[in-house]
Amino acid sequence: MLIDTHCHLDFPEFDADREEVIRRAKDSGVEYIINVGSSLENSRAAVKLSKEYPAVFASVGIHPHDAKDFSEDNLLEIKELSKNPKVIAIGEVGLDFYRNLSEESVQEEVFRKFIGLAKERNLPLIFHCREAKADFLRILKEESFPQMRGVMHCFSGDKDFLRECLDLGLYVSFTCNVTYKKADNLCQVLKLVPQDKLMLETDAPYLSPEGFRGKRNEPYQVKLLAETIAKIRSVTFGEIAEATTVNAKKLFGLDI
Ligand SMILES: [Zn+2]
Ligand SMILES: [Zn+2]
Repeated sequence: MLIDTHCHLDFPEFDADREEVIRRAKDSGVEYIINVGSSLENSRAAVKLSKEYPAVFASVGIHPHDAKDFSEDNLLEIKELSKNPKVIAIGEVGLDFYRNLSEESVQEEVFRKFIGLAKERNLPLIFHCREAKADFLRILKEESFPQMRGVMHCFSGDKDFLRECLDLGLYVSFTCNVTYKKADNLCQVLKLVPQDKLMLETDAPYLSPEGFRGKRNEPYQVKLLAETIAKIRSVTFGEIAEATTVNAKKLFGLDI
């Protein structure tokens, strides 16, 4: 069994064939999908999908891009949404100083609010971090990690950042960008991740694997991702499937 621990099936890219996409995932052994919230609206949609499809779990949160529109009312609604039994994490939240669609100080303030919510609700966090490593690590240290739990999604850092994330107790999740031809550096880092901290995700509709670039990504591609990672780490597909499923079940407390 495989789990896509991070995708966005609520996005309009899937409006025409969502059910088929979930079926196609199942047929490839991707039996469960975590639909990650990226705004208040997307968090509502994620919870709705989790109610409609037994295979779908949800997380709720606001992406750092949208931190500028944050209000306390948003936080209250996200908190209410987080009480749904199929909501298994707070996220994706974090910092994105690459695109800087919201001011850095505002991103930090909103990020801390969601860490606070995760503490209050005793839920793990799904982190987005781009071009903001130092601030990200500083905030986590100040916000009582490694006592808390979380996953660094779409890991794309170097060895040092990996070490720091592991020291803070984080899980580390890889996407289909490890299948790209120019992913040598990332593949070297991937080899260093302990088997009990590794997770898989597509971030669909983004980041289609090599051979499918330019097309919409889908959860069924976790199979190809697991095959690629097995080769890179010189282990069997079965070992990767087993380990990453156990890890996701443990971090998110999935009752499956
Ligand atoms: Zn992200
Ligand atoms: Zn995402």
